[in-house]
Amino acid sequence: MLEDLFSKVKARVTFETQADKKNTMNIPENLMFKCPRCSHVEFMDSFVMNNKVCSGCGYHSRLTAQERLELTADNFTFREYDPGMKSVNPIGFDGYTEKAHRLRRKTGLRDAVVTGECTIMGNPCALGVMDTRFMMASMGSVVGEKITRMFERATEKNLPVVLFAASGGARMQEGIVSLMQMAKTSGAVGRHSQKGLLYITVLTDPTTGGVTASFASLGDIIIAEPKVLVGFAGRRVIEGTIRQRLPDNFQSAEFLLEHGFVDMIVERGQLRKTIGALLSLHDKGEEV
Ligand SMILES: [Zn+2]
Repeated sequence: MLEDLFSKVKARVTFETQADKKNTMNIPENLMFKCPRCSHVEFMDSFVMNNKVCSGCGYHSRLTAQERLELTADNFTFREYDPGMKSVNPIGFDGYTEKAHRLRRKTGLRDAVVTGECTIMGNPCALGVMDTRFMMASMGSVVGEKITRMFERATEKNLPVVLFAASGGARMQEGIVSLMQMAKTSGAVGRHSQKGLLYITVLTDPTTGGVTASFASLGDIIIAEPKVLVGFAGRRVIEGTIRQRLPDNFQSAEFLLEHGFVDMIVERGQLRKTIGALLSLHDKGEEV
């Protein structure tokens, strides 16, 4: 209830301080949804019923880890790995400890990824979900360690892995420690793969930086949600470096599909069925 009150106050403050008031509608956050891509406005209820996909343009908005788990895993089957793991401040970055603490209280998450095992349409698998509410799901030591452990457990138990990737990249507050996670997670994915086990990644909005450059791009099957942003460096950085204008749909899931970086684009409503079917097709039974 208190949270509702704060969100209303925040919405009003934003309205009053925006320079361009014409384009800013004072919509209570919990009643209506306004699409950031096409500005289509609809009731929050119907938006949620539609799995948080905009009915105007098909924009697949970001989901919390909890929402993604509910949409993906079979009911009551998810068992979380390492739920208590949280980061220290390895390079003594100013304000990092306080920021992480604030976000833990606000989101109920310990860090930017939730991992565990479950069944999807009856198929057992390890499942990882990244959550952009926690520092834009940047990869620090905890994200890297939890993903590595998930792959190690899956390798030991002969389980396939399904991972919903979303990230702003490496976590700058952890400096070199966060960059090391790229090699560590990739090594764990490699050992899982050497055992002949299946790894499916689902790229969601946005998947960028060090996460794209490591485990998010290493799936045997790479799925993307429609129109999501996937890339390494930002568009402006690349344009500034190569001094050329990039195509309008550059770094979209559709562009990546056309150029062979993504295997298929699947709408959110069909994801669970598609993943379930892929897991079932690749099921090797008991013997490995
Ligand atoms: Zn839209």
